[in-house]
Amino acid sequence: MAWDFETDPQFQELLDWADDFVRAEVEPLDLIWPHLQFTPLDDTRRAVIDPLKEQVRRKGLWATHLGPDLGGQGYGQLKLALLNEILGRSQWAPIIFGCQAPDTGNAEIIAHYGTPEQKERYLRPLLDGEVFSCYSMTEPQGGADPTQFKTSAVRDSDGVSWIINGHKFFSSNASTSSFLIVMVVTNPDVSPYQGMSMFLVPTDTPGVRIERNCGLYGESDGQGSHALIHYDNVRVPDSALLGGEGQAFAIAQTRLGGGRIHHAMRTIGLAQRALDMMCERALSRHTAGSLLADKQAVQGYIADSYAQLTQFRLLVLHTAWEIDKYNDYKLVRKDIAAVKAVMPTVLHDIAWRAMQVHGALGVTNEMPFLGMVTGAAVMGLADGPTEVHKTTVAKQVLRDYSASDDVWPTDWLPRKRAAAQAKYAEYLDLEVGNL
Ligand SMILES: Cc1cc2nc3c(=O)[nH]c(=O)nc-3n(C[C@H](O)[C@H](O)[C@H](O)COP(=O)(O)OP(=O)(O)OC[C@H]3O[C@@H](n4cnc5c(N)ncnc54)[C@H](O)[C@@H]3O)c2cc1C
Repeated sequence: MAWDFETDPQFQELLDWADDFVRAEVEPLDLIWPHLQFTPLDDTRRAVIDPLKEQVRRKGLWATHLGPDLGGQGYGQLKLALLNEILGRSQWAPIIFGCQAPDTGNAEIIAHYGTPEQKERYLRPLLDGEVFSCYSMTEPQGGADPTQFKTSAVRDSDGVSWIINGHKFFSSNASTSSFLIVMVVTNPDVSPYQGMSMFLVPTDTPGVRIERNCGLYGESDGQGSHALIHYDNVRVPDSALLGGEGQAFAIAQTRLGGGRIHHAMRTIGLAQRALDMMCERALSRHTAGSLLADKQAVQGYIADSYAQLTQFRLLVLHTAWEIDKYNDYKLVRKDIAAVKAVMPTVLHDIAWRAMQVHGALGVTNEMPFLGMVTGAAVMGLADGPTEVHKTTVAKQVLRDYSASDDVWPTDWLPRKRAAAQAKYAEYLDLEVGNL
C-alpha cells in the first residue's frame, strides 16, 4: 500500500523554516520594492537581498529545481511543489530562493541541451542569481500557434554565423535580461516541427532592439516588462545554437512543461493567501445581526474555495509526483495541461470571493485581490491559452477510448440487461419457478 500524503519530517522542518522566513523577511520586500524583482540590484537592494539569498543557500533551499551538479539540491518536483506553494505568496520569494520564472525554465533547457561552454557562459550566472534571462518565442501575428512564426535565422556566407531577422512579442523581462532564448525558423522548406531552432543571444548584441515594453493592467507607464523586440540582422555564431538545428519544438516542450507546473505550484500559495484573507474577514466583520462567517452564502464561498483549492493542490502534487516518477514531461503531458487549464479558474474564483467578502475595501488598491484576478487572467494566456491546453487534455484522454462498433453505445442498458439475464438465466428461471 504505497499511497502516502505525509511530508518527510526533515523536509517539513525546512518548509516550516521557509514559511516563517518568507512571511517575516521576504513579504516586506513586495511592499518596499514592488515590481523590481527582475531589475538588476543596485547597492541598496544588494545589501538586503544578498544576505537573504545566503540564508536560503545555507538551508540548502537555493535553486531546488535543478540537480546538485548544477548547483541545485535535486529534491525533485514534489518537494519543489511544497516549497513553491510557500513562495507563491510573495513576488520576491522565488528570486530569493533562486527559482523564479522564466529563469527556471530557461535554466532547465540550457542544463538539458546546452554545450559545456553554453552552460558556463549562461547557466552558471543564471543559477548564481546574478543575471536574468528572457524566452523570446511569441510573435505579434500569433502566439498560440508556433507554426505561424516568421522570425528566421539564415546561415551567413561566412559559414560560421547565423543572421536573425524578425520580431517577437511579449518577451518578458527582455529589457533587464542579459540574454534571450529566441525561437526561429531555420528551414522553411520542412514542417515547422523540424524547421525551427533555438538560439542563445546576448541581449546587447547589435541589431536587438526593444520597440516597447507592454505593461499589464494596473501597472503604470514605464513599469511594463513584456517587450516587443526587433531582431534586425542579428549576427550570432554557430555556437549560439541551442540543442541543434531543428530542435526548437522538443526544447520548447521541455521548457514549457516545467514552467507550467511551477506556476501552478506557486498559484496554490497565492490562492491559499486569498482564502486566508477571506476567512479572517468572515470572522471579523459583523453585519445584519451576525458575523459574515455565520451567513450561509459566505459559508458557501469558504466551502467552495476550500474544496476547489484542495482539488487543485492534489492535482498539482500528483502531477509533480508523476514527473519525479517518469522523469519525462512528455509522459505527464495530459496532467500538466490539465493543471494549466484549471489554474486560472481556481485563482480567479477564490480571489473573487475573497474580494466580495471584503466589500468596498476589497476592490481598492489597498488590498491585493484585483491584482490576483488580473493574475488569473494572465495565467489563462501565458505559456499558452486555456483552450489549447484543454484540447491537449481531451486528445490525451481520448487516446484511451475507441468508438462503439454499434449504433447503440456500449453501455446501452437494454442490451446489457439482456446479457446479464442470459448470464444468470438458470438462477432467474429458478426465481420464476419459486413463485
Ligand atoms: C504576462 C504574459 C507573459 C508572457 N511571457 C512570454 C514570454 O516571456 N515569452 C513568450 O514568448 N511569450 C510570452 N507570453 C505570450 C503567451 O505565450 C501568448 O500570449 C500565448 O501563447 C497566446 O498567444 P497570443 O497572445 O498571440 O494569442 P492568440 O494566439 O491570438 O490566441 C488568442 C485567443 O484565441 C483563442 N485560441 C487560440 N488558439 C486556439 C485554439 N487552438 N483552440 C481554441 N481557441 C484558441 C484563445 O481564446 C486565445 O486566448 C506571455 C503572455 C503573457 C500574458
